[in-house]
Amino acid sequence: MTAKIISGTEIAAQIREELSRDVAELKKQHGIVPGLITILAGDNPASISYVTAKQKIARTLGFHSVQDNQPSDISQADLLALIEGYNADSAIHGILVQLPLPSHIDEAAVLNAIDPDKDVDGFHPVNVGRLMIGGDQVKFPPCTPAGIQELIMRAGFDTSGAEVVVVGRSNIVGKPIANMLLQKTAGANATVTVVHTRTKDMERHCKRADILIVAAGVPGLVKPEWIKPGACVIDVGVNRVGEKISQKTGKKIALLKGDVDFEAACEIAGAITPVPGGVGPMTITMLMKNTVRAAKIACGMH
Ligand code: NAP
Repeated sequence: MTAKIISGTEIAAQIREELSRDVAELKKQHGIVPGLITILAGDNPASISYVTAKQKIARTLGFHSVQDNQPSDISQADLLALIEGYNADSAIHGILVQLPLPSHIDEAAVLNAIDPDKDVDGFHPVNVGRLMIGGDQVKFPPCTPAGIQELIMRAGFDTSGAEVVVVGRSNIVGKPIANMLLQKTAGANATVTVVHTRTKDMERHCKRADILIVAAGVPGLVKPEWIKPGACVIDVGVNRVGEKISQKTGKKIALLKGDVDFEAACEIAGAITPVPGGVGPMTITMLMKNTVRAAKIACGMH
C-alpha cells in the first residue's frame, strides 16, 4: 500500500480561504475587523520567527494585527498591566503571548491574566475546562489539537467508533487531542487510548489504532510494524536532525523529521501527514480561526 499524503499545507490554505470570506462578511455585516495582538518579550530568534509568521498570515487575512515587542527584562507587573490594557481594548479580539517567556516571569500568571474570551491559544484554565466539558462550552480549542482534528476530518476519516491511540500526554497536544476526540460531537466519538513513557508495550496499543496520533518529540519513535495496515497516521513531532540546503534559497536550513519513520510508514498506513507540511501549517491557521471566532463572539454571533 502507498499511503495518501495528508497535506497540511493544502488544507490550511483551504481553511484560510474560508476565513478570508468570513473576515469580509464580518466587516460588511457588522463593521468588525478581527484584531490579534501578539506579545513578544525578548529576542529569542525562534520566537521572533513564530510571531512574524503569525502576524504575516493575520495581515493576509485582513485582520487588524499588532505586534508588541517588549524587552527581555520587562517586569512581570508591567507585562500583566499590558495584558490588562489589551483585555479592555475592544479592537483586540485575540491575545497571544509568545512562549517561552524570560525566566524571571511566571508563565502561568501571565497566561491566566488573559481574558478567557480573548485567549485564542486556548491555554487559559477556563478554556481548558470548557474543552473538557465539550459541546457548546468550547470556545477556543488549542491550536495544534484543533489542527489535528481538522486534518483527520478533511482527509475523510470517520472518527466515530474509531480506535484512536495518542502517543504523548502533554498539556498542549496529547491531553487536549485525546479529550477532543472522545467528545460526543461530530469529528469525535472515538475510543481513545493515550500512551506515554510509562506505558507497557506501546507497540501493542499502536497496532490497534485506526487513527494514530504521535506527539512525543522522538524522531522515528513509531516503527512501521507498529502501524495497522490502512491506518490514518498523524505525525505531530518536529525534530531537528541536521541541516540541509534549501532548494528555494540555496541557504542552510534545518532538516526536520517527525516521530514516525515516514518512508517505511507510507508502505503500510492508509494516510499519513508529512513533516514538515503536515500539522505545522495547521497550527497557525487554527489560531486565525480562533481569532475570527473571538471577533464573532464579540459581536454576539456565537
Ligand atoms: P512534550 O511536552 O515533551 O511531551 C511529549 C510527550 O511524549 C510526553 O507525554 C512523553 O511522555 C511522551 N514521550 C516522550 N518520549 C516517549 C517515548 N519514548 N515513549 C512514549 N512516550 C514518550 O512535547 P509536546 O509539546 O507535546 O510536543 C511533542 C512533539 O510535537 C514535539 O516534537 C514538538 O516539537 C511537536 N509539536 C509540533 C507542533 C506543530 O505545530 N507542528 C506543535 C506542538 C508540538 P511522559 O509524559 O511520560 O514524559
